Amino acid sequence: MKYLDIFLREEDRMLQEQVRKFVDAEIMPVRQQLDDDEDHVIVHKILQGLFDMGLMLRYFPAEYGGCSDQSTFVSSSIMLEEIARGDSGIAVAFSCVGWAFQPAVLARNRTILERFVPLFTGKEVRLACFNMTEPGGAHGGGGCDIENPTLHGRTIRTIARLEGDEWVINGQKLWATNSGVSDLYCTVCTTDPNAGEKGIALIYIPHPTPGMTFGKFERKAGMNADRNCATYLVDVRVPREYRASEEGKDAELFHLNLVTGRLGGAAMAVGNAQGAFERVLEYTGERIVAGRPIRQHSIAAGMLADMAMAIETARMYYLAAAYMMDNSRRYGGLRSNFILSRVSLAKVYAAEVAVMVTNKAMELMGSYGYVRDYDVEKYWRDCKIIQLWEGGAQLGRFDICRGYYDCQL
Ligand SMILES: Cc1cc2nc3c(=O)[nH]c(=O)nc-3n(C[C@H](O)[C@H](O)[C@H](O)COP(=O)(O)OP(=O)(O)OC[C@H]3O[C@@H](n4cnc5c(N)ncnc54)[C@H](O)[C@@H]3O)c2cc1C
Repeated sequence: MKYLDIFLREEDRMLQEQVRKFVDAEIMPVRQQLDDDEDHVIVHKILQGLFDMGLMLRYFPAEYGGCSDQSTFVSSSIMLEEIARGDSGIAVAFSCVGWAFQPAVLARNRTILERFVPLFTGKEVRLACFNMTEPGGAHGGGGCDIENPTLHGRTIRTIARLEGDEWVINGQKLWATNSGVSDLYCTVCTTDPNAGEKGIALIYIPHPTPGMTFGKFERKAGMNADRNCATYLVDVRVPREYRASEEGKDAELFHLNLVTGRLGGAAMAVGNAQGAFERVLEYTGERIVAGRPIRQHSIAAGMLADMAMAIETARMYYLAAAYMMDNSRRYGGLRSNFILSRVSLAKVYAAEVAVMVTNKAMELMGSYGYVRDYDVEKYWRDCKIIQLWEGGAQLGRFDICRGYYDCQL
């Protein structure tokens, strides 16, 4: 029994079992091939399988053919943990559809929902992208500065100008999950960097739109089931209604995306660590050194216990944070520093757990842990980015402090 009953409804438990079965049948047998799946044939098949189970419908409201009323932060997180136990690249590619649509869903933007949800609830799996990170420059910028609440969006350099009934967008984005392969891009812009939060505008750009082009796919250490590239925006024009909401509200929606992104990262990190842990438990039970299975040596048992302690506490804490988000009124609201602090704690901690667990797992497996055939090296390569994305370990720590005092970092 992995989860406390107080966190889970019966349908959440069923969801968890359903996803786990899918992962064991459809991802585990092919996960070693994902790094070489350059055209994403296998990745697409897996994403289509998750889609066919109806899991993507959880991101869309019932009036648009979805079932988001059945979804909670707890259930979404558990689903992501289970997918990431198979492959965290698949988990992030899948979940970014919900992440990209979230501002339009929360703002009840009828134009976006009526025009684009049908494409995402049809027969074939489609991807979407939340395009926030920028290259940065002398003014700062980059990833963390855009996310840093004390900078109020002033470092965003993707500029949206209203011309008649159209937004004209110019700028550059980097790294975002599903970039170059999505049908819809929720793009973090500013109408005026000096206006701070009032300037923040989340604007949807469908693909193709003239003026939006992409760079080459990045060559990464891991997470290869996820595609990432630069997005170039030159005089890109979209209708005025493609802004998620309005001045001021978009800044709130942006903040909510940062908060939910942290929670998702925490759940994925735990899934990654859990997958590596299951593999090392199995391996160390079979491999004999000095006359007995590795895990029957006290030095190895101590390491396995450390991994188990870390995974269980990281899981309990991300579930606690998800529970607080589901009951956010009791915890100061989704926009509160308290919630930002607690989801950041969940994410920073879980990512460090995944890095530690995969590292120790490899140590216990010797050279076998370092080669592809034994799975752990992929978990080890994949999880590192969870620590680096969404504010990294440093901004993440400042955000934790914001729940305890007025941290101005
Ligand atoms: C596989 C992958 C998926 C991604 N998915 C997305 C996505 O879907 N959407 C998207 O928009 N982006 C995405 N990113 C980008 C990612 O979120 C950013 O790269 C990340 O937020 C860090 O930004 P940066 O790389 O510009 O680092 P920087 O912001 O330059 O940070 C560099 C270092 O400075 C530290 N730092 C930051 N702020 C401070 C501070 N105030 N004081 C001291 N130190 C600080 C950081 O922790 C880090 O150690 C993805 C990246 C990858 C590789």
